[in-house]
Amino acid sequence: MRFPLLICVLQWAGALGLCPAAQAQQSHAQITTAPVPDSARLGKVSPLGKAHDWSKLESFAKTMTKEEFEKAWRQIYSEEIGLPPPFQIGDSALDVPTGNTIKPIFRLPFRDPKEPLTIASKPSWRRARDLAPLNDRPPLSDLHIAIDPGHIGGQWAAIEERLLSFKPGEAIREGDLSLMTAKVLKERLSKLGAVVSLVRETLEPVTPKRPADFEVEALEVLTEAGFPEPTISYQGLTGDAKLLTVQWQTEKLFYRVSEIHARAERVNQQIKPDMVLCLHFNAEAWGDATSPQFSPKNHLHVMINGCYAPVELEQQDVRYEMLSRLLNRVHEEELPLATSVAESMARATGLPAYIYTRPNARHAGTNPYVYARNLLANRLYECPVLYLEPFVMNHEETYRRLLAEHYLGRTLIGGKLTTSAIEDYVRGVIDGLLAYYKNNRQP
Ligand SMILES: [Zn+2]
Repeated sequence: MRFPLLICVLQWAGALGLCPAAQAQQSHAQITTAPVPDSARLGKVSPLGKAHDWSKLESFAKTMTKEEFEKAWRQIYSEEIGLPPPFQIGDSALDVPTGNTIKPIFRLPFRDPKEPLTIASKPSWRRARDLAPLNDRPPLSDLHIAIDPGHIGGQWAAIEERLLSFKPGEAIREGDLSLMTAKVLKERLSKLGAVVSLVRETLEPVTPKRPADFEVEALEVLTEAGFPEPTISYQGLTGDAKLLTVQWQTEKLFYRVSEIHARAERVNQQIKPDMVLCLHFNAEAWGDATSPQFSPKNHLHVMINGCYAPVELEQQDVRYEMLSRLLNRVHEEELPLATSVAESMARATGLPAYIYTRPNARHAGTNPYVYARNLLANRLYECPVLYLEPFVMNHEETYRRLLAEHYLGRTLIGGKLTTSAIEDYVRGVIDGLLAYYKNNRQP
């Protein structure tokens, strides 16, 4: 779900790190004046992020030509109409500020197209073409898929701003719906031969931290953004005033930043899948949660990682993580996978493509449903990630379909025989994966 509360007055503050989670996960700062990359800032890390060991990227020396690098940068990782990044693409090498004073520049030599091919060390995930031949086994045999049910849900849904209720006694929670969808998907994908791991199996956080653990960080974020003496509680506050409280910031750091870091740890260190499906349901701004508004809009989009704003790349961990994905050529698998899944989800759901009105996402490839965006999850998970955003939860018919949860066949909703939105979601994902792996792995 997009985050409807982000407001213009705070967009500049996002650039300064005020809305770290929102900035990384949901929204870039909208830049109206050109920010000048400031070398003093290039050592900073994103909230709860950590400095990386740049020498780990040395194995990519001469694995990519300048043309290959520039193409990936221009078509996927940069903004559509972007300002210059805080690194130099030279003729023979890439020079990246590390943010580390002892070795301030990381130099990556490009491959001369006339030189023999140098192969980088293989990542832990496998491309479709690297999977063992099928030999008449089920079509997704050996493929290891991690499913990340977006958000936490349950008792946490209200502070996550993912609880929607139009009538006392009824409610939908995005975190509950994504887990429900994940469980149906797991069963179906397993029957097709895939090994499936859920990144979250309950309506509880993966992170052991809680909002109270982030008071110092929240205060830092607000101080840096020019609000050194913020209000503590947001009780009775709305709009900008709410976002500028310590409470709101600690909650964001907990359920979005810390939670995604904990999930990334699980994905990268334990599960080590070939790909991750991040399951979400979208929403349009619904106003005050106590009296939400329906929206006439209903849409779908699928995201891959990319579209980094120069101001985001000023953070050394973000710079490293973007380059790590680019040099590992994650996009070469992620984009065609996303395109296949977007095509089949559009068919299964009948939804039109979402159209971004802000520069925090860009089209990737030619499918109108596929966008690139720098979200915390699709940046931190070290393998291809499809970030799925079908359905607007506060679209009236969708809301009623989601209240009915998962079912097979059709049921009467609002006087109309209707399929389950969750079932359509699942069918769309499965058809897209089947088509992709059928076309790209050895028979
Ligand atoms: Zn969501």
